[in-house]
Amino acid sequence: MALPDFLVDGYKDWKENKFKNKKKFFHKISLTKQKPKAMIISCCDSRIVENAIFNAEAGDYFIHKNIANLILPIKKSKLNNNTNSAIEYAVKGLKVSHIFILGHSNCGGIKFAHDCFLKKTIDQNNKYKYLKDWVKPLKSIFIKFSKKKGEKNTLSNFERLSIENSLNNLLEYPYIKKLVKTNKLQIHGLWYDIGKGNIKYFDKKSKSFNNIA
Ligand SMILES: [Zn+2]
Repeated sequence: MALPDFLVDGYKDWKENKFKNKKKFFHKISLTKQKPKAMIISCCDSRIVENAIFNAEAGDYFIHKNIANLILPIKKSKLNNNTNSAIEYAVKGLKVSHIFILGHSNCGGIKFAHDCFLKKTIDQNNKYKYLKDWVKPLKSIFIKFSKKKGEKNTLSNFERLSIENSLNNLLEYPYIKKLVKTNKLQIHGLWYDIGKGNIKYFDKKSKSFNNIA
Protein backbone atom coordinates (compact mmCIF):
# COMPACT_ATOMS: atom_id res chain seq x y z
CA MET A 1 0.00 0.00 0.00
CA ALA A 2 1.46 3.32 -1.07
CA LEU A 3 1.78 6.21 1.32
CA PRO A 4 -0.40 9.17 0.38
CA ASP A 5 1.23 12.01 -1.55
CA PHE A 6 0.30 14.67 1.01
CA LEU A 7 2.44 12.88 3.60
CA VAL A 8 5.42 12.15 1.35
CA ASP A 9 5.41 15.60 -0.26
CA GLY A 10 5.11 17.34 3.08
CA TYR A 11 7.98 15.32 4.48
CA LYS A 12 10.20 15.98 1.45
CA ASP A 13 9.54 19.69 1.67
CA TRP A 14 10.39 19.73 5.39
CA LYS A 15 13.55 17.67 4.90
CA GLU A 16 14.83 19.74 1.99
CA ASN A 17 14.05 23.11 3.52
CA LYS A 18 13.34 23.43 7.24
CA PHE A 19 15.52 20.50 8.30
CA LYS A 20 18.35 21.45 5.95
CA ASN A 21 18.41 25.00 7.30
CA LYS A 22 18.59 23.81 10.89
CA LYS A 23 20.71 20.72 10.51
CA LYS A 24 23.12 21.74 13.27
CA PHE A 25 20.28 22.42 15.68
CA PHE A 26 18.69 19.00 15.07
CA HIS A 27 22.06 17.29 15.40
CA LYS A 28 22.70 19.09 18.69
CA ILE A 29 19.33 18.20 20.24
CA SER A 30 19.72 14.58 19.14
CA LEU A 31 22.88 14.19 21.23
CA THR A 32 21.40 15.05 24.61
CA LYS A 33 18.38 14.02 26.65
CA GLN A 34 15.33 16.13 25.91
CA LYS A 35 14.93 19.08 28.26
CA PRO A 36 11.56 20.67 27.54
CA LYS A 37 10.58 24.00 29.12
CA ALA A 38 7.18 22.67 30.12
CA MET A 39 4.47 20.13 29.51
CA ILE A 40 1.34 20.89 27.47
CA ILE A 41 -1.78 18.74 27.71
CA SER A 42 -4.03 19.59 24.81
CA CYS A 43 -6.77 18.25 22.57
CA CYS A 44 -6.27 15.87 19.64
CA ASP A 45 -8.03 18.42 17.42
CA SER A 46 -5.96 18.90 14.25
CA ARG A 47 -6.37 22.67 14.45
CA ILE A 48 -4.36 22.89 17.65
CA VAL A 49 -0.71 23.23 16.69
CA GLU A 50 1.01 23.96 19.99
CA ASN A 51 4.48 24.67 18.63
CA ALA A 52 3.00 27.16 16.15
CA ILE A 53 0.90 29.16 18.61
CA PHE A 54 3.74 29.41 21.13
CA ASN A 55 6.35 30.00 18.45
CA ALA A 56 8.25 26.97 19.72
CA GLU A 57 10.94 24.66 18.40
CA ALA A 58 11.54 20.93 18.56
CA GLY A 59 12.42 20.11 22.16
CA ASP A 60 10.64 23.09 23.74
CA TYR A 61 7.46 21.38 24.94
CA PHE A 62 6.60 17.89 26.11
CA ILE A 63 3.16 17.52 24.56
CA HIS A 64 0.42 15.06 25.38
CA LYS A 65 -2.89 15.03 23.55
CA ASN A 66 -6.19 13.44 24.34
CA ILE A 67 -9.79 14.09 23.32
CA ALA A 68 -10.89 17.36 24.97
CA ASN A 69 -7.60 17.73 26.92
CA LEU A 70 -8.95 16.00 30.01
CA ILE A 71 -7.36 14.98 33.26
CA LEU A 72 -9.73 12.61 34.98
CA PRO A 73 -10.28 12.50 38.75
CA ILE A 74 -7.94 10.20 40.69
CA LYS A 75 -10.73 7.67 41.28
CA LYS A 76 -10.88 7.22 37.48
CA SER A 77 -7.10 6.99 37.16
CA LYS A 78 -7.19 3.57 35.48
CA LEU A 79 -9.19 5.04 32.62
CA ASN A 80 -6.65 7.86 32.48
CA ASN A 81 -3.50 5.73 32.47
CA ASN A 82 -2.17 7.09 29.20
CA THR A 83 -2.40 10.72 30.31
CA ASN A 84 -1.21 9.91 33.83
CA SER A 85 1.91 8.14 32.61
CA ALA A 86 2.79 11.12 30.38
CA ILE A 87 2.37 13.51 33.32
CA GLU A 88 4.35 11.23 35.61
CA TYR A 89 7.27 11.11 33.20
CA ALA A 90 7.18 14.86 32.54
CA VAL A 91 7.20 15.67 36.25
CA LYS A 92 9.41 12.93 37.71
CA GLY A 93 11.65 12.16 34.74
CA LEU A 94 11.97 15.45 32.90
CA LYS A 95 11.32 17.60 35.98
CA VAL A 96 9.23 20.18 34.17
CA SER A 97 8.22 23.07 36.39
CA HIS A 98 5.09 24.03 34.47
CA ILE A 99 2.11 22.09 33.12
CA PHE A 100 -0.32 23.86 30.80
CA ILE A 101 -3.75 22.41 30.18
CA LEU A 102 -4.72 23.86 26.83
CA GLY A 103 -8.38 23.77 25.85
CA HIS A 104 -9.89 25.45 22.82
CA SER A 105 -12.95 26.90 21.11
CA ASN A 106 -15.31 24.70 19.07
CA CYS A 107 -14.01 21.56 20.79
CA GLY A 108 -15.75 18.53 19.30
CA GLY A 109 -14.98 16.39 22.36
CA ILE A 110 -16.57 18.88 24.73
CA LYS A 111 -19.57 19.28 22.41
CA PHE A 112 -19.93 15.49 22.25
CA ALA A 113 -19.98 15.28 26.05
CA HIS A 114 -22.41 18.18 26.29
CA ASP A 115 -24.80 16.64 23.76
CA CYS A 116 -24.58 13.17 25.34
CA PHE A 117 -25.48 14.60 28.75
CA LEU A 118 -28.31 16.60 27.21
CA LYS A 119 -29.44 13.32 25.65
CA LYS A 120 -29.53 14.84 22.19
CA THR A 121 -29.73 12.41 19.28
CA ILE A 122 -25.99 12.53 18.63
CA ASP A 123 -25.09 8.90 19.21
CA GLN A 124 -28.26 6.90 18.95
CA ASN A 125 -26.54 3.84 17.51
CA ASN A 126 -23.92 3.80 20.25
CA LYS A 127 -21.19 4.23 17.69
CA TYR A 128 -18.78 5.95 20.07
CA LYS A 129 -18.44 3.43 22.87
CA TYR A 130 -14.95 4.47 24.00
CA LEU A 131 -15.56 8.15 23.60
CA LYS A 132 -18.69 7.98 25.74
CA ASP A 133 -16.72 6.37 28.54
CA TRP A 134 -13.92 8.87 28.19
CA VAL A 135 -16.12 11.98 28.60
CA LYS A 136 -18.40 10.48 31.27
CA PRO A 137 -16.41 12.00 34.19
CA LEU A 138 -17.48 15.45 32.93
CA LYS A 139 -21.06 14.70 34.00
CA SER A 140 -20.73 16.31 37.44
CA ILE A 141 -19.53 19.64 36.03
CA PHE A 142 -22.17 19.44 33.31
CA ILE A 143 -24.89 19.26 35.96
CA LYS A 144 -23.63 22.51 37.52
CA PHE A 145 -23.13 24.06 34.07
CA SER A 146 -26.64 23.21 32.88
CA LYS A 147 -28.13 25.36 35.66
CA LYS A 148 -26.27 28.44 34.44
CA LYS A 149 -27.97 31.06 32.27
CA GLY A 150 -27.01 33.25 29.28
CA GLU A 151 -23.31 33.70 28.48
CA LYS A 152 -22.37 31.16 31.16
CA ASN A 153 -24.44 28.47 29.46
CA THR A 154 -22.44 28.41 26.22
CA LEU A 155 -20.19 25.65 24.94
CA SER A 156 -17.21 28.00 25.29
CA ASN A 157 -17.94 28.26 28.97
CA PHE A 158 -18.30 24.49 29.28
CA GLU A 159 -14.88 24.14 27.62
CA ARG A 160 -13.41 26.52 30.19
CA LEU A 161 -15.16 24.84 33.13
CA SER A 162 -13.68 21.56 31.96
CA ILE A 163 -10.17 23.08 32.02
CA GLU A 164 -10.76 24.33 35.57
CA ASN A 165 -12.04 20.87 36.47
CA SER A 166 -8.93 19.20 35.03
CA LEU A 167 -6.72 21.55 37.07
CA ASN A 168 -8.59 20.49 40.22
CA ASN A 169 -8.35 16.82 39.23
CA LEU A 170 -4.60 17.14 38.70
CA LEU A 171 -4.23 18.41 42.27
CA GLU A 172 -5.87 15.22 43.57
CA TYR A 173 -2.67 13.33 42.77
CA PRO A 174 -0.55 13.51 45.95
CA TYR A 175 2.83 13.87 44.21
CA ILE A 176 1.49 16.76 42.10
CA LYS A 177 -0.11 18.44 45.10
CA LYS A 178 3.13 18.23 47.05
CA LEU A 179 5.20 19.79 44.24
CA VAL A 180 2.66 22.58 43.72
CA LYS A 181 2.58 23.33 47.46
CA THR A 182 6.36 23.63 47.57
CA ASN A 183 6.43 25.81 44.43
CA LYS A 184 8.40 23.26 42.43
CA LEU A 185 5.58 22.88 39.94
CA GLN A 186 3.00 25.32 38.59
CA ILE A 187 -0.14 24.20 36.78
CA HIS A 188 -2.01 26.52 34.43
CA GLY A 189 -5.26 26.46 32.47
CA LEU A 190 -5.33 27.99 28.99
CA TRP A 191 -8.17 28.38 26.50
CA TYR A 192 -7.39 29.08 22.85
CA ASP A 193 -9.89 30.80 20.57
CA ILE A 194 -8.97 29.31 17.18
CA GLY A 195 -10.76 31.89 15.01
CA LYS A 196 -9.39 34.91 16.87
CA GLY A 197 -5.91 33.53 17.56
CA ASN A 198 -6.48 34.60 21.15
CA ILE A 199 -5.32 32.71 24.26
CA LYS A 200 -6.76 33.24 27.72
CA TYR A 201 -5.43 31.92 31.02
CA PHE A 202 -7.32 30.83 34.12
CA ASP A 203 -6.80 33.27 36.95
CA LYS A 204 -7.07 31.25 40.14
CA LYS A 205 -7.93 34.28 42.31
CA SER A 206 -10.80 35.67 40.25
CA LYS A 207 -11.71 32.20 38.91
CA SER A 208 -12.05 33.67 35.42
CA PHE A 209 -10.25 33.41 32.09
CA ASN A 210 -8.30 36.54 31.13
CA ASN A 211 -6.25 37.41 28.06
CA ILE A 212 -2.57 36.37 28.24
CA ALA A 213 -1.47 39.55 26.48
ZN1 LIG B 1 -10.99 19.62 21.25
